[in-house]
Amino acid sequence: MARYTDSVCRLCRAEGEKLFLKGDRCFTPKCAVEKRSYPPGLHGRQGQFRRKESDYGNQLREKQKVRRLYGVFERQFRRYFQEAQRQKGLTGVNLLTILESRLDNVVYRLGLASSRPQARQLVSHGHFEVNGRKTNISSFIVSEGDVISVRESSRKTTYFKDVAKSLDEGRVPGWLSLNVAELSGRVVSKPSREHIDVTLNEQLIVEYYSR
Ligand code: SF4
Repeated sequence: MARYTDSVCRLCRAEGEKLFLKGDRCFTPKCAVEKRSYPPGLHGRQGQFRRKESDYGNQLREKQKVRRLYGVFERQFRRYFQEAQRQKGLTGVNLLTILESRLDNVVYRLGLASSRPQARQLVSHGHFEVNGRKTNISSFIVSEGDVISVRESSRKTTYFKDVAKSLDEGRVPGWLSLNVAELSGRVVSKPSREHIDVTLNEQLIVEYYSR
């Protein structure tokens, strides 16, 4: 499957807001959204004044924003939506719960990576295990009670030695717990809507797929 290889900052500029895809850089004045607050491309500057969003446009933008935020391709995103529809409860919230439960997102939320793209790379390079078993699939969905840890061999790397110094239990969302000494985390409960600190309107995504 093709991967997105262009600058990820273009995705933020296309959405008109920060998606935090580049780790620490996103919090500095070097952030492309701060420097160029108009859409990418030749007509980006004109676009910011001309853009008139229809209902469909707003739904599409919200769907694209969430998809890009979590780094999921359209086909997989649609599958998540269908799974969310099958579950009890609100489809939009179910969808966000599934996305939050991806292993790459959990690694990011625990502070073991500075962005979701970096977390995805670390997972695919085999640095993590779930319940003691090596897991290198970033889309792996964690469940309540699962323990996610950095593998023994990876803990000795400079990267994880540095990460260990910056870990902060206070920054971990309530549905996860962090064990700094062990470089591991535990899923305490399913993530609920209040735990998901992303500004978005999931109902627009439901409307997009319900057309
Ligand atoms: Fe987005 Fe981060 Fe790039 Fe800013 S620095 S545009 S938030 S990826």
